[in-house]
Amino acid sequence: MNQGICKICGQTKPLIDAHIIPMSFFREFGEVPKQYSTKANEYPRLTRRGIYDSNCWCMDCEQLFKDYDDHAALLLKLPQPKFVGDKTLRVQVDYQLMKLFFVSVLWRAHLSGVRFYDKVSVGDFHAARLREMVLNRDAGGVEEYSTWMFQFNIGDERDSALPPHPVRVIRVLCYRFFIVGFTWVTKVDSRPTPEIYRGIIMRPNEPLQVRRMDWQTSQERSLLLGAVQNTTESRNTTA
Ligand SMILES: [Zn+2]
Repeated sequence: MNQGICKICGQTKPLIDAHIIPMSFFREFGEVPKQYSTKANEYPRLTRRGIYDSNCWCMDCEQLFKDYDDHAALLLKLPQPKFVGDKTLRVQVDYQLMKLFFVSVLWRAHLSGVRFYDKVSVGDFHAARLREMVLNRDAGGVEEYSTWMFQFNIGDERDSALPPHPVRVIRVLCYRFFIVGFTWVTKVDSRPTPEIYRGIIMRPNEPLQVRRMDWQTSQERSLLLGAVQNTTESRNTTA
């Protein structure tokens, strides 16, 4: 293990192989993950062990995320949609734990220095607030880092992921994560959630709403195909 300064507690300690999106999500992948990154050759650690950062935080600080990660593992058991259409799955969740999963993944991605997460940079103000929420187990108000979710009828391409990235949803800044057939979008903006998604954001004492979407016509698939194509091109040029 690396000895270094933990980005969470600030102490000099052995730093673990810190997963940002938890390893349980990567176990869903087969033995040989697909080439899903534009820089596949630069991700030598992209295996079933997941994507991790060995320069981030210590074993004690990793425990901060355990309850959130354990709760979010229920997402992995949800059935894939068999149909196409604007149907919504309602899943009983603990609002505090699930919301803090999304909040903490965003914060972890911000803290990480590995390339897969390099498009996630929320700025000092949000980084401080996300830290405070995670450490205090404060899930925040409904509009604070509001999050909504989609699931695709993705079939065999479930073992694919895109580097999380900022998106503007009707001018409102959000970060989009896509992995194991799910997309979740977390708002990082003081403006309210765009009206079209306001009905499906997470709310206390209500089920998590997972909107089922068609994979073939999704933007995520287009992005993924672009990524795969770029990988092939870069391989051809470097071969
Ligand atoms: Zn620490």
